[in-house]
Amino acid sequence: MLIILRPDASSSDRDRVVALIERLGFTAQIIEGVQRDAVAIVGNDGRVDAARFTALPGVDDVIQITRPYRMVSREWRAEPTVVSLPGGRTIGGPELLIVAGPCSVESEAQLFGTARAVLAAGAGALRAGAFKPRTSPYAFQGLGDEGLELLAAVRRDTGLLIVTEAMDEEGLERVAEVADIVQIGARNMQNYALLKRAGRAGKPVLLKRGMSASVADLLLSAEYVLSEGNPDVILCERGIRGADPGTRNLLDLSAIPSVKSLSHLPIMADPSHGTGKRALVPAMARAAIAAGADGLLIEVHLNPAEALSDGAQSLYPEQFALLMGELRGIAGVIGRRVS
Ligand code: PEP
Ligand code: MN
Repeated sequence: MLIILRPDASSSDRDRVVALIERLGFTAQIIEGVQRDAVAIVGNDGRVDAARFTALPGVDDVIQITRPYRMVSREWRAEPTVVSLPGGRTIGGPELLIVAGPCSVESEAQLFGTARAVLAAGAGALRAGAFKPRTSPYAFQGLGDEGLELLAAVRRDTGLLIVTEAMDEEGLERVAEVADIVQIGARNMQNYALLKRAGRAGKPVLLKRGMSASVADLLLSAEYVLSEGNPDVILCERGIRGADPGTRNLLDLSAIPSVKSLSHLPIMADPSHGTGKRALVPAMARAAIAAGADGLLIEVHLNPAEALSDGAQSLYPEQFALLMGELRGIAGVIGRRVS
C-alpha cells in the first residue's frame, strides 16, 4: 500500500502516517518526491485497511498494491483449479461443463421432461431451483423441499449432476444433500454468513456475480468460501446491471479473461440471466465459450410460455440441442471439449 501525501503536508502529517504504519506492525518507507512525498507500507499482506490512512490529515490518496484476496489469486496457486465432480466429470480443465434446465422446479413432469431433453442434447448437469430468490415476494418462490425431492429423483433416474440454489443458512445443508454443486445466487453473493456456511458444505459451490459487484468483489466473496476450507468454488458471470432496458442485464464477457488472469478458479457464464431474452442466448453462449468460460448455465424449458419463472429467456429444447452442436465446434477450435 502506498500512501500519497498532499503537496502541502507537514512533516508532522508525515510522521503521523509513519507512526500508524509502525503501530500496525509494519515498516514504513518514505519516498521523497519533487512536489510531494509518499510512504510505502512494507510487508503488508493485504490486511491493512486503506480507510485508516485516507482519514489522516495531509493524506491525498491511498494506492492498494497488494491484492485484497489471497487464496483465490494466481499468486497463491499458479495452476488452474480443476473441480472434480461425480461420474468423473470436471470443470476448470479441458472439459466444458454445460449445465441446462428450467429456472425453477415446477412439477415432476416438467422436471423429468426437461432433464431427458437436455441429457439427450449432451448437457453434463441439470439446473433447476427449488428455492427461488424472486424480486417480488408475490412471485412464485419455488417448490422448496418438494422440489429438492424431485431433483434427487431425477438424479437417480438420469444420472445427471444437479445444480441448485441455496438461499439461506438453514436451507444450505438440505440443498447440499441433493446438489452436486450448490449454487449461491447473485442476490446472495455478499451474504457472508451463507458464504461461510458454504465453505463447510462439503460440496462444490457455484458462486454467481452480484448485479452490482466488481470482479474484485466476486473474488473476495469466493475467498470467504475458500478460507472456510472449501477449495471447490466455480465462479459465474451472469450479467451486471446495465443502462440499456433492451436487455435484462449486461453480460460482462470481459470478466471471463479478467478472472482467468487474476484467479485460478474456474468461471462459467450464464447467458440466460445475462440477457433475459431467448433470442440473444445462443450468440452469447457461443461468445462466452470463445472468451474462455469453463462452462455455461443455460435455462431450458419444455414450454417456456407456461414457465413459472424466466420463460422469456428459456430456450426450447430444440434450440438447446442446436446450440450444443455449435458449442462442440467452438470447443474444438480452442482445444477444449464438451463432456
Ligand atoms: C437463477 O440461476 O435462476 C438465478 C436466480 O440467477 P441469479 O442469481 O443470477 O439471478
Ligand atoms: Mn432464472
